[in-house]
Amino acid sequence: MTQDTFDYIVTGAGSAGCAIAARLSEQGKYRVLLLEAGPRDTNPWIHIPLGFARTYVNPTINWKFETQPQPQLKNRQLYLPRGKTLGGSSSINGMVYIRGNHADYDEWRQRGCEGWDWDSVLPYFRKAENQARGEDEFHGVGGPLHVSDQPSKFELAEAALAACEQAGIPRNPDFNGAQQEGCGYYQTTTNRRRRWSTAKAYLEPARGRANLEIRTGAHATKVLIENERAIGVEYHTAQGRRTVLARREVVVSGGAYGSPQLLQLSGLGPAGHLQDMGIPVVKDIPAVGSNLHDHFNTTLSWRCAKAITLNDLENSWPKKISAAIRYALFRTGPMASNGVHAGLFTRSDPRLERPDLQINIFEWSTLERSSTRVKPHPFSGFTLMPVHLRPDGRGTVRLNSPDPLAPPAVLFDYLRTDYDTRALLSAIRLCRTIVAQPALRDYAMDEISPGVTTESDDAMVEYIRQTGVSNQHPTSSCAMGHGPNTVVDPRLRVHGIGGLRVADASIMPVVVGGNTNAPTIMIGEKCASMMLEDAA
Ligand SMILES: Cc1cc2nc3c(=O)[nH]c(=O)nc-3n(C[C@H](O)[C@H](O)[C@H](O)COP(=O)(O)OP(=O)(O)OC[C@H]3O[C@@H](n4cnc5c(N)ncnc54)[C@H](O)[C@@H]3O)c2cc1C
Repeated sequence: MTQDTFDYIVTGAGSAGCAIAARLSEQGKYRVLLLEAGPRDTNPWIHIPLGFARTYVNPTINWKFETQPQPQLKNRQLYLPRGKTLGGSSSINGMVYIRGNHADYDEWRQRGCEGWDWDSVLPYFRKAENQARGEDEFHGVGGPLHVSDQPSKFELAEAALAACEQAGIPRNPDFNGAQQEGCGYYQTTTNRRRRWSTAKAYLEPARGRANLEIRTGAHATKVLIENERAIGVEYHTAQGRRTVLARREVVVSGGAYGSPQLLQLSGLGPAGHLQDMGIPVVKDIPAVGSNLHDHFNTTLSWRCAKAITLNDLENSWPKKISAAIRYALFRTGPMASNGVHAGLFTRSDPRLERPDLQINIFEWSTLERSSTRVKPHPFSGFTLMPVHLRPDGRGTVRLNSPDPLAPPAVLFDYLRTDYDTRALLSAIRLCRTIVAQPALRDYAMDEISPGVTTESDDAMVEYIRQTGVSNQHPTSSCAMGHGPNTVVDPRLRVHGIGGLRVADASIMPVVVGGNTNAPTIMIGEKCASMMLEDAA
């Protein structure tokens, strides 16, 4: 056992953790330690936009969790990729830059999270951002996080967007501007056609700081708590167990699965569950690991009449070699983009106030998408992926065992209510309407999945139960707010424990209606700012 002391210790170098460690160390006043269980982000596929199909299954940089059997999904165990490297999931995600709906944050405020309404969070989105289109009311420049347009227009995306317009969905040039609803191209967290993870954005510029230490291969196993105050962290390395002490605070940023797991291992969680696991209860906080939200998706795929999809690339060595050369020499071609160029936000019911559906337009179709491989169909194809953004189901993250290195037990409650299924049924019908429009006539051939014979509501629900999966946007397992259903207060301090905060996607009181990386980076920015205020 060795010991050393820092002002702040952050566990988890993900979307939030990198932002927090970099901001806390910026002034040079505090000694900061960032602990990351995974390795450095040297795997080349991390940095190539199209490489995310590779990092999706790579065990050296991905936790590769899976759920418990899901009762509403035929007891299937769903694959849960999560980044395990510097940058966390921002190093393996799809790079789509979306903030959610302004009203989502106003809802957080209405739930008691003062300081988290849209007007209060917008400055942190802007502070983080370096927007390629320049500065405006909604966007910032000069921040560490590069946000870029797609490298070019794409024939299939253009046709799909024209079809959306023919189906009555208006074009939206900026999903992160005044309006979220509509169809358009996605912007991505990339810079000069390379992935711009939070490791790139926040850690790389901070590397030379003498007061920031980054330890990789350092798996936090316990927050050390004395007299209801966090005093340090115990962690596991290949060389053995280590202990570090925090003079000021410990911040847990392990993500929506990792953070509740670490709190529970530290004796903070539902007392009965901790006792079952043989873990001494430090404080009974029932909401730790409860209230887990996620987005849920299903997919519809079509054969494409033109050999312009990523299937055609993956299925041809000459095309792959040519794409690799183009990317290596000029940073152009299919490898320079993320393959999900466009999408749309809409409402499953016109009476809703905010979009509850996102439909991603993928320029590929898959025969298999599992924890071991992503395999395209042996012919040209494309996919529309409806995502339910506001599901009613809530899940849990619990310990599988007291072994801190064991994966957590994750149980979702997808398709809990009638609304959950109705929303996806409406999305499936909308996808078919879009694909039937004249603009896609020269592209869309047979519907591969679910296939035109899947027509009745019952048959479609059966298809969703058999094939629907996590959209990899878990949140809210250490929810912010006041009262028994929450874990942290609006300054992200764990209720009843001094010197301990949680800051990552797990603190969202409710999942936002859009992708979760940008909101989590905003959470990291705001957490660091509140910590520096409190320290002053
Ligand atoms: C395949 C995939 C595709 C996605 N696509 C998009 C997208 O296109 N756009 C978008 O906005 N969002 C996307 N997301 C979601 C988004 O990336 C996440 O919501 C976001 O990165 C979560 O940030 P976080 O800080 O909460 O957790 P993470 O970024 O996952 O960070 C947690 C970090 O903590 C580390 N850690 C965990 N436990 C410990 C421990 N005990 N000790 C030390 N370190 C620990 C992990 O290794 C990791 O580095 C995607 C996610 C995945 C997995």
